[in-house]
Amino acid sequence: MYLYNSAARKKQEFIPNTPGVVKMYTCGPTVYHFAHIGNLRSYIMEDVLEKYLRFAGYEVRRAMNITDVGHLSSDGDTGEDKMLKGARREHKTVMEIAKFYTDAFFADCSQLNIRRPDKVQPATSCIDKYIEVISRLLEKGYAYEAGGNVYFDTSQLKRYYVFNDFRKDDLAVGVREGVEADDNKRHKNDFVLWFTKSKFEDQALKWDSPWGVGYPGWHIECSCISMQNLGEYLDIHCGGVDNAFPHHTNEIAQSEAYLGHKWCNFWFHVQHLNTADGKMSKSKGEFLTVSLLKERGYDPLAYRFFCLQSHYRKALVFTWENLDNAAVAYNKLIARIAALDPEKGPADEDAAQALLASFRAAMDNDLNTGNAVTALYDILKAEAPDAVKLRAIDLADSVLSLDLLKKAAAQRERNARAPKAGQFAVIFEDGVEDQAARDLMEQRQAAKKARNFAEADRLRDEAAALGYTVMDVPGGVKLTRK
Ligand code: AMP
Ligand code: ZN
Repeated sequence: MYLYNSAARKKQEFIPNTPGVVKMYTCGPTVYHFAHIGNLRSYIMEDVLEKYLRFAGYEVRRAMNITDVGHLSSDGDTGEDKMLKGARREHKTVMEIAKFYTDAFFADCSQLNIRRPDKVQPATSCIDKYIEVISRLLEKGYAYEAGGNVYFDTSQLKRYYVFNDFRKDDLAVGVREGVEADDNKRHKNDFVLWFTKSKFEDQALKWDSPWGVGYPGWHIECSCISMQNLGEYLDIHCGGVDNAFPHHTNEIAQSEAYLGHKWCNFWFHVQHLNTADGKMSKSKGEFLTVSLLKERGYDPLAYRFFCLQSHYRKALVFTWENLDNAAVAYNKLIARIAALDPEKGPADEDAAQALLASFRAAMDNDLNTGNAVTALYDILKAEAPDAVKLRAIDLADSVLSLDLLKKAAAQRERNARAPKAGQFAVIFEDGVEDQAARDLMEQRQAAKKARNFAEADRLRDEAAALGYTVMDVPGGVKLTRK
């Protein structure tokens, strides 16, 4: 399998450190608000990556943090802690906010069929590890104390800018317009490992440390949670592209300074979901969430389908029209799968695997999900028994997670219940067949044909006595349980 590695700036063959086992880390959400569908684009694509690695035969060990402390409004270590801002907005405690939005995040994930990583660790539960790593960085001369905070000294590194060769000035943080520079920093890109002095004295969560009562910086959280759960050698680290600098750059700096060796081989960055007027964000424009999609009548999986149609390394523009087009294509795909007959077999496993060749080729080529979706149409068109096609689609969907077979089966069921031309259909609204009620309805239909309306009404009353409301619909009758 070939994946684009941001650290090498090219596609490389993906080979994990330990044969057959992949250690994967993902930057988790900052739980001060709902996730917007841009955040969720990143988590959908990371989910597909994890599932495809499993599909390809790897055992995947995956960890993710939940940022519930230390993420300031500006990536340059200034501004307010986002959690505190959320708590103030909603007149709740920081821990209440963290719990509420962590649950909301996983509820959104489950609606989008995003699997929960094996290990999920809130940043507030890893304080000892931060203290251990920061202490070691101080001992090794990679960190310094100034003005009460502990900073990482980026000048100690031979190469700090791992992901780009941009001019330092272009990337310097903490010196952007309107953001106050931190005078304690020896170099512009030095970053905080541990805060004790903050402009915001009311920081809710604080812990004792060798440097005074305070709280960790955001970057150290991910390094430590990754090392604690996955060890000293990481195979792949994921996140949205905005995290490449400074967050991931700083993670590499401190992890490798602490470990004394290379830490992570592959860096997987998902490009942004943008609105027509730029990057989607929680503070700007319409706040697009999974709940909003549902309110507007969209199946959350139609959004997943929309994301999968594009490559993760291309920026994707969200408009309602684009989502409509994806929803239509998704429903058409389901209808075509529903038209396959599961009884037309045999469902030969080797034949199903053979049908997956173009799906695999697409995914092996830097997770090209757009082509992988196209490969589903090739499977539908292939010369093979329907049961084989269904098996192949089911296997592909163990990665794409679009509920294709489940939805196709429901569609088939609906098709079977829909009245056929010239036929009289008895539709049970809840899908539960009741032979006695069916008999009554067929007798009623015969009575109506014979223009014996009194008998027809009597039979309707009998059905009512069985607990049904009877409604005439085109081509038949619908029974709803009262
Ligand atoms: P946050 O909750 O802000 O820490 O972000 C969670 C994840 O969403 C991170 O991996 C971000 O890089 C990613 N992200 C933020 N904005 C977008 C966007 N517009 N499109 C895709 N991913 C995003
Ligand atoms: Zn992170």
